[in-house]
Amino acid sequence: MIPKLKHALWERAGADLRILVEDPVEEIVLGDEAGQLERLVELLAEGGRPVAELATALAAAGPWELDASDVEKALEVFDQLGLLFDASPDGLTEWQRERYSSNLEFFATYASLARRPADFQRELLDAHVVLLGVGGASAALQALCGLGVGRLRLVDFDLVESKNLVRQFTYRAEDIGRPKVERAAEWVRAFNQEIAVETVFQRVSGPEDVPALIAGADLVLAGIDQPVAAADWVNDACVAAGIPYVSGGGQGSQLAYWSVDPGRSACWRCQSSEKAAKAGELAALVNRFEGDLPSANRSTGPVVLHLMGLISLEIVRYLTRFAEPVSAGRYHIVDLASGQSSEREWERVADCPVCATAPARSAVEGG
Ligand SMILES: [Zn+2]
Repeated sequence: MIPKLKHALWERAGADLRILVEDPVEEIVLGDEAGQLERLVELLAEGGRPVAELATALAAAGPWELDASDVEKALEVFDQLGLLFDASPDGLTEWQRERYSSNLEFFATYASLARRPADFQRELLDAHVVLLGVGGASAALQALCGLGVGRLRLVDFDLVESKNLVRQFTYRAEDIGRPKVERAAEWVRAFNQEIAVETVFQRVSGPEDVPALIAGADLVLAGIDQPVAAADWVNDACVAAGIPYVSGGGQGSQLAYWSVDPGRSACWRCQSSEKAAKAGELAALVNRFEGDLPSANRSTGPVVLHLMGLISLEIVRYLTRFAEPVSAGRYHIVDLASGQSSEREWERVADCPVCATAPARSAVEGG
């Protein structure tokens, strides 16, 4: 372990050491009459020293008496304050460190002495995500490739149509008439040769189709809107396989996304039985997201990019656990006119037959 200070400024104020943290901006004040902490912070900002070397350098710097255990205690406090990360070698190649440098800076905010920024990136590099549908989800595909998700399976039966080009920017006018999966895979390969991409040109026409399509996935992005029953099929297969999935849609004045964390959150069937129980009260809202209303796709480019951005970030939560998922067993709804968001949690049905099929999973994965 090589402790290093995250982006921060500091100054002395009498007997105090004031540390200004960059993200989120906040001030931490520590009593430091003798100046030991200030010197330690300087050494941590320089970085490159394991604990024993830090102790030696700190002991040599002042009139104070201290040993490695004193330094360890101070590091523990700094770590709890979110000031440190471990800068020891992380196994990424130079190419990866350059390519994913902004990802690593992003994860540095959530890193600690126990978890290096590259450890989060490694989770993405090792992840296998299945996209059931690469229509609107093609925007999430691009985000996932930028993140460096290492393995992708693209499933779709649609051909590129002129009307898709209002929101599906992976496709070009010259692609009209070609299978979306074919063109999307070409895009991925041209974008990043390190990503393994597999295509399945297949219509999901029954529940028996889904298990093979999601096999081996760490996460599924469910982007199939037809037939409506596909939402149930995907739910049932993912829950039984213990694979989390994220889904969402935009209709009219709102967009919404949600996810199911098998065995940990309510599933789509729980939501359906809740809806049936509260028919009338919830139906008007929920119907919009299920496509029961006369079909009219009003999703413009910004709506889909916004939705897929939110979904992609939720996928990063699932894959890296930099934070807990925010949409497990609930709708996250954004009102497009006001920009305001709200959420609606589903009740978990105690005797849900689908939730009962979820395999036992550890309390937290990906950590
Ligand atoms: Zn359920």
